[in-house]
Amino acid sequence: MQRIVIVGGGFSGINVANKISKKTKRKNVSIVLIEPREDNVYEPFYLYWSFRKDPLKKFHIPIRKVLRKRVQHIPALATKIDTKNKSVDLSNGETIRYDYLVLATGARMAEEKVGAYEKDNVHHFYLTKATTELREALKNFNGGTIVISPSTVPYKCPPAPMEFAFMVDRYLRKRKIRDKSTIKFLYPLLRPYPERRVAAKIQELYDKRGIEFVEFFNFERVDKENNKIVSLEGDEIEYDLLVLIPPHEGHKVIIEAELGDREGFVPTDRFTLKVKDHDHIYAIGDCTNLPVSKSGAVSHFSSPIVAKNILLEIEGKEPTKKYNGFTICFVVTSPRRSLLLFFSYAYPPKKFGLHNLFIYGLVKKAFKIAYFKAILKGYL
Ligand SMILES: Cc1cc2nc3c(=O)[nH]c(=O)nc-3n(C[C@H](O)[C@H](O)[C@H](O)COP(=O)(O)OP(=O)(O)OC[C@H]3O[C@@H](n4cnc5c(N)ncnc54)[C@H](O)[C@@H]3O)c2cc1C
Repeated sequence: MQRIVIVGGGFSGINVANKISKKTKRKNVSIVLIEPREDNVYEPFYLYWSFRKDPLKKFHIPIRKVLRKRVQHIPALATKIDTKNKSVDLSNGETIRYDYLVLATGARMAEEKVGAYEKDNVHHFYLTKATTELREALKNFNGGTIVISPSTVPYKCPPAPMEFAFMVDRYLRKRKIRDKSTIKFLYPLLRPYPERRVAAKIQELYDKRGIEFVEFFNFERVDKENNKIVSLEGDEIEYDLLVLIPPHEGHKVIIEAELGDREGFVPTDRFTLKVKDHDHIYAIGDCTNLPVSKSGAVSHFSSPIVAKNILLEIEGKEPTKKYNGFTICFVVTSPRRSLLLFFSYAYPPKKFGLHNLFIYGLVKKAFKIAYFKAILKGYL
């Protein structure tokens, strides 16, 4: 019996488990998913949830409901990975042996590194509890300066903070307090998005809506006593409400097993998705150091490669399948409009479709249904 153990059952882990299950009927292969949570969260919904209170079930789904029957879910935390003995210790006291290991632990939101989220005017929308608190703060906001900024790169879904600025603009207009408010979007580059043509479009839309873009702002710290955000270069910007994307890093279990780089992200071969210098270990999604965005779309397009390469190895063949870095990204510019972008290793992001159509806004919303009904289950 060949046992494939997947550590982390977020989008990447569930997706790869289902893809492996779908691609092999072999009876001598078992698939085990280690994930302490019972639910999977559709994170893009946080952008909407910051502004309105939908029930949790609208974007949470029980993991068992989307996992194929053949995949065994162990609801525990992996506490230690022993690559020499090919085993994983679990928080329930068990030790589980593997023949193939897939790391899919995602990125940890290192909120403690900011040391300011306890304030009632410093928030983010990258976790459920944090988003709930942000929604409350937005409800109580009656004018002033809202500052939006990433704290470090990389962070999940690169356009999300920039999209958030569009959403805040609309929210304040609806509440008729836009004229009493300033929105500032801070970014470490000289333009609001890495790709020049996309950045030009974003800048045009920002100008139209009076959103201020502050270029080359490299976050250093929050001066919470004086309500200021300070850059490495010493610039200070005052806020009444700060929306700061938390620092991202790898999880403890990865760092302690010496499977991570300086930030705790897993050095991963960009084509085969094998973990560098380790046989029989693959990595997928936000836990990797791949030169692509930390996004569900990357997990989606790379999961068949991980699945296929492991199955090739099980058959005694070379893992020859290669991920070409392809991904897509919807950038929401209003609740009903978005831009559609395409990237890959070969054309980072030279070749892209730039659209601003009502239909793409709808597609982004419809995507949630596809996510739960087909993508997570490995049908697409
Ligand atoms: C606001 C927001 C908007 C976004 N919008 C988009 C979008 O429009 N399009 C897009 O493609 N992507 C988007 N993303 C990004 C996308 O949601 C993530 O990239 C994706 O969910 C990553 O999946 P993952 O499985 O790699 O990581 P995660 O979803 O973080 O899952 C990792 C899992 O590992 C588990 N874990 C961690 N440590 C251990 C351990 N020791 N033992 C066992 N399990 C462990 C965790 O509990 C977690 O469930 C967005 C993200 C956010 C926050």
